[in-house]
Amino acid sequence: MSTTNSLHKILIVGGGAAGLELATSLGKKLGKPGIAEIILLDASQTHIWKPLLHEVAAGTLDASEELEYLAQAHRNHFRFRLGRMVGLNRATQEVTVSPTISDEGEELIPERSFHYDTLVMAVGSISNTFNIQGVEQHCMFLDKAVEAFKFQKHLVKACIKLHAQHENNNEQQLSIAIIGGGATGVELSAQLHEVSRVLAIYDLAEGIDKIKITIIEASPRLLSALPSNLSIATQKQLVKLGVDLKLNRRVVNITDTSIETHDGEIIPADLKVWAAGIKAPDWFKDLDGLEINRINQLVVNQSLQTSDTHIFALGDCAACPWPGHKENVPPRAQAAHQQATTLHKTLVNRMSNKPPVDYVYRDYGSLVSLGKYSTVGNIMGNLMGTVTIGGFMARVVYLSLYTMHQAALFGYFKTTMLTLSNLFRSTISSRIKLH
Ligand SMILES: Cc1cc2nc3c(=O)[nH]c(=O)nc-3n(C[C@H](O)[C@H](O)[C@H](O)COP(=O)(O)OP(=O)(O)OC[C@H]3O[C@@H](n4cnc5c(N)ncnc54)[C@H](O)[C@@H]3O)c2cc1C
Repeated sequence: MSTTNSLHKILIVGGGAAGLELATSLGKKLGKPGIAEIILLDASQTHIWKPLLHEVAAGTLDASEELEYLAQAHRNHFRFRLGRMVGLNRATQEVTVSPTISDEGEELIPERSFHYDTLVMAVGSISNTFNIQGVEQHCMFLDKAVEAFKFQKHLVKACIKLHAQHENNNEQQLSIAIIGGGATGVELSAQLHEVSRVLAIYDLAEGIDKIKITIIEASPRLLSALPSNLSIATQKQLVKLGVDLKLNRRVVNITDTSIETHDGEIIPADLKVWAAGIKAPDWFKDLDGLEINRINQLVVNQSLQTSDTHIFALGDCAACPWPGHKENVPPRAQAAHQQATTLHKTLVNRMSNKPPVDYVYRDYGSLVSLGKYSTVGNIMGNLMGTVTIGGFMARVVYLSLYTMHQAALFGYFKTTMLTLSNLFRSTISSRIKLH
């Protein structure tokens, strides 16, 4: 990128839960007074907070939750550049960005490189397919908004077909299989169930009882990262909704029409969603010698710095130590939010040669939303031991995680106004997207 001035350049790659919050706060603190130039690079033009993607997939998310990066950059004194990072040259302090191609195949922006003085890697994670046969070809993923929108379109088409078949007395069934019984798989199954009921209300789904949802999970229980009483409560709720749970089943092969498990069972499935674990992108294996772990995450120290003092990493793509625990900080939105706050302080200090600030993960617990049916989880994590909550209170706490993200992007006043306007809008718009 052409250099317009000699300001210190902080290049943030990835504008997700972590990167966009960081770009926004640094823009206000360092960009506005002209202390540093803040540049955010993202492969997409818009931002949707990733934990909402199962709602995008189910068609229940309001389109207004999508944020234009350019507008956010303009309001918060940072620059946004569209592009997908593909390589790094640490000697010249440059990242390489692949050409940007339009949907019609036209090259909009040629390959280019961006110089940095400080680089922040915040590109998140992708699904880990564990090289299982057929997953890449036949499954859908919820890694990006565009994939979630694609799933939603398939779902609506399938429901329209099912409805027409029912009217012709053709008793077909639509089977949806979700592989992975962690929070993503569980939340998606509840959302899909809710959608099938709303479709019935809208008269698009006589015969909606013909939609079958199955979760296939390798461990003996759903939500294995949460206490077992929460798993049991969740399992009971899903079974009550008619979701078929296949626990202790390892997927070994996927075809266009079915899923095969290790014990030889063949489970028919029209739509298949893979939600069984994450890894950082494979191109991290070739990041000019930076150390990665077995799931490709960049190894960082307590202040989120890689072995290169000019390069930091945060969010899902970083392997950050969690003192007192064998495992690293978990790949969660709450960790991404906290890390953005800490790294902001470190990068502000860096401008005046002050020391970095250490990041300590505060586990406020985990909540899993079962749509309108309930929310289950434990709050305060290791601060107060495990306190389990459910029902309305859990729903409020669950939503507060998103509110914290919005507050980091827009401030508290605008977040309150947004929440109120969404409440009003929900009374007039359709509860799901039907196109
Ligand atoms: C369906 C679902 C539900 C979830 N629910 C919860 C929850 O309830 N609670 C919770 O704590 N966590 C939840 N998570 C996990 C949470 O979303 C992630 O931990 C969090 O988003 C990580 O933030 P991040 O900034 O590291 O990455 P992301 O938020 O994924 O952002 C990464 C950004 O990098 C961009 N990018 C990727 N590659 C490139 C590239 N090569 N060049 C340029 N830009 C690039 C992407 O476009 C994206 O904007 C959920 C995840 C999913 C998928």
